[in-house]
Amino acid sequence: MDLPTHFFFGIAVGLVFFGRPEVALIIGLGALFPDLDREYWYVPERKYAEEQMHRALFHNVVVMAVAYIANPLLSLGVFLHVLQDSFTTVKDRGVEWFYPFTRLVKRGIHDANGKDQAPAANEHVYFYQEDPPELVKLADPDLQEPSKDPVPWRRVYGFAQNSHLLDRGFFFGSIAIAILWFIDPTNSASVSQFVGLGPQLWGIVAGYLGVLLLFASGETQSSGERSRAKAGQQGKPDPASRLRMLKPIQVPLLGIGIALLASSVLLSWTGLVDNISLTLSNPPLLVAGAAAVLIVAVAVIKWQTRGGRTTMV
Ligand SMILES: [Zn+2]
Repeated sequence: MDLPTHFFFGIAVGLVFFGRPEVALIIGLGALFPDLDREYWYVPERKYAEEQMHRALFHNVVVMAVAYIANPLLSLGVFLHVLQDSFTTVKDRGVEWFYPFTRLVKRGIHDANGKDQAPAANEHVYFYQEDPPELVKLADPDLQEPSKDPVPWRRVYGFAQNSHLLDRGFFFGSIAIAILWFIDPTNSASVSQFVGLGPQLWGIVAGYLGVLLLFASGETQSSGERSRAKAGQQGKPDPASRLRMLKPIQVPLLGIGIALLASSVLLSWTGLVDNISLTLSNPPLLVAGAAAVLIVAVAVIKWQTRGGRTTMV
């Protein structure tokens, strides 16, 4: 989905559920972040070609957890982004919610050519790092893609056959909700709440500028185009690079973007420290929560694969 769509959806959720513009802005910032895992020049091309990092690297529960430690609202923004992307089908690549855990490869019940092989005695769930075409043919019909380059099954897919329609629906719907929120006369909160926010507001502004500069720098060139240029190959320019004219300053843009993000962290330092100490204030509860998640996950896998069953129903 487009960045503006993610942004406005985050803003709309922030306004409706929290009723405070500055909260909405932090959620909106979190909603922008995940797409920095696109195929940009500052990420090695091989990683993309072989590992399909987009909608995996920053679209997962680990990123949500890290963002939560910094600011729960930021984490909510990341969550909303990933949720929206999950509505899309195989065609649009879905989302890898549990990256990198779902890439911990064990051996499968089929080999890479789709031939049966004896399951290992101690392993009941298997994940493939890559997606051999012969194995994809064994997948459920709705997960198969009629192409030479099938998408991974470990991703989560949704119902939106027409992702453009879904995107526009979210985009205009969110803007409409935000406008209604601001013009609602019974609403005591308003934009004027921004005044007096002080360093917090500047932290948010620096965060936005930093993230937008990273996107601008990345959009100047894809990693594939950069690799070809390095190897002295011509190749046709990447049509996705809409900001190609900024290519000569891609490195300064990246540098300033990172510096702005760092200053955003410094400006939000007090809130950050408060949140970290709050998160860690009850270690036994934290450990119990993590243990509970693990126990439930293992129990579900054990139950679903009981009696040697090899497929989830
Ligand atoms: Zn995304």
